[in-house]
Amino acid sequence: METTERKIRVTLWNEFRHEKTNEAAKALYPEGIHACIGKYLAQFPQFEIKLAALDDPDQGLPDEVLNATDVLIWWGHMAHGEVNDALVTKIQRRVYLGKMGFIALHSAHHSKPFRAIVGTTGNLTWGREQREIMWNLLPSHPIAAGVPKNFLIEEEELYAEPFFIPQPNELIFGSWYEDGYIFRAGMTFLRDAGRIFYFQPGHETCPSFHNPHVLRVIKNAVLWTAPSEEKYEYRDECPHVVQNLAERIAAGKAKSNMTDPVFTELGIKD
Ligand code: ZN
Repeated sequence: METTERKIRVTLWNEFRHEKTNEAAKALYPEGIHACIGKYLAQFPQFEIKLAALDDPDQGLPDEVLNATDVLIWWGHMAHGEVNDALVTKIQRRVYLGKMGFIALHSAHHSKPFRAIVGTTGNLTWGREQREIMWNLLPSHPIAAGVPKNFLIEEEELYAEPFFIPQPNELIFGSWYEDGYIFRAGMTFLRDAGRIFYFQPGHETCPSFHNPHVLRVIKNAVLWTAPSEEKYEYRDECPHVVQNLAERIAAGKAKSNMTDPVFTELGIKD
């Protein structure tokens, strides 16, 4: 049996502005939300952790970092608009090609990459910080592993329905808020060859990224969104099946989107 003990390269991207300017956020996450989650994930030897922030060179994601990322975790809020559109396109493409999983946390529901990847506005209703009960709706799902049937988050920002996302592939978590609202709080999307997970907790002035259940969900989501082992490359195009591709290539008449017929690919003779 083939064993692949490849490490999962996780890049934690954080806007990293609130933690520098807001005292409550700074007190909870002195080194940033990304560093807090990163410290937790770094305990597990299967992960290789990298931190990236909006104000780093190339917005934290130069090609050499992005192209060496298996799972990108995204937290942003006050500066969504500053994220380069060209970078967003690169992120979306890497996810669609199945080379990178994407995890959007909390206010990343309105981030450019999340909206580009899932294809909707991500609009929702929001309100004051309050108690939230997180319900585990799909305990058989790998992202729910080790998570109780419900847990209390003492203080979290209200996020409420309607949440304008595409119909999720799997709805794993749902939340109840003391003001009477409900929210689809954790769900998966499959886009092209890529896997995406969204999770609600994580307001910058709430301690949710110190909550062991929230952290466990993020760990599980890294494992689930990480690209699976593929035996071939997905192509960002619609390949055209043609006869005699080898001869066309030899004659300089092949186009880049051409592909061999399946019988040729599989070596099946007439
Ligand atoms: Zn928030």
